Amino acid sequence: MSPKADPQNEFSVTCPHCGFGVYPKLVATFTEANYKHHYIAQCSGRCNHIFFVTRDQDFAASVHNQSGEDVFNSHVYPQNLLQPHRLNETIPYGIRQDFAEAANCRSIEAYKACVTMCRRTIQNCMRDKGAKKDKLLDQIDEIVKDQQIKDIAHSTRIIGNWGAHEQEDDLKKVDWKIAKAILDFTWRILQDLYILPKQLNEIKGTISGRKKKSE
Ligand SMILES: [Zn+2]
Repeated sequence: MSPKADPQNEFSVTCPHCGFGVYPKLVATFTEANYKHHYIAQCSGRCNHIFFVTRDQDFAASVHNQSGEDVFNSHVYPQNLLQPHRLNETIPYGIRQDFAEAANCRSIEAYKACVTMCRRTIQNCMRDKGAKKDKLLDQIDEIVKDQQIKDIAHSTRIIGNWGAHEQEDDLKKVDWKIAKAILDFTWRILQDLYILPKQLNEIKGTISGRKKKSE
């Protein structure tokens, strides 16, 4: 069966693997009811990976659709995967991969793995920025300029223990709240070290460029 034979079988979604908007190749289709369809789909963009799509009819939107065609909402699985290439390109790719993995661990409730990947992300940032000291807490002190981040690092027991390599005990207590806090903290460090300096440089370039022109 050609997917193009039925307009309902031609739709665009965001590939959960490569993040590109694609009209997927439909490998298999299953109709649960005329308002609910399931598909095994293959990315037609850059990655060719397989994923799963469920499409439900949106009845309210269908009634108001002027073309008279039924409107469907697509749900793509696996859900909520953060792809490294979607993160700011000023961050080195390996560090983006680590952070994306940390974020994806949290979204599947793997909180200890999330915190462990955050540690790896921060440690790799510090090394990338030329940290000389051994303990992570000292490295944060050495490299990060933002005083608030330093204060948080010092007041967070888990971060302190990261420095002493005794994190295993504290990992037992990690719940979603701690995982979210550490993930947010890690993102702040990435912003502070990579994203903000680049943005400020661009602003500086724009302002000094204008100044020269007007002089
Ligand atoms: Zn893809």
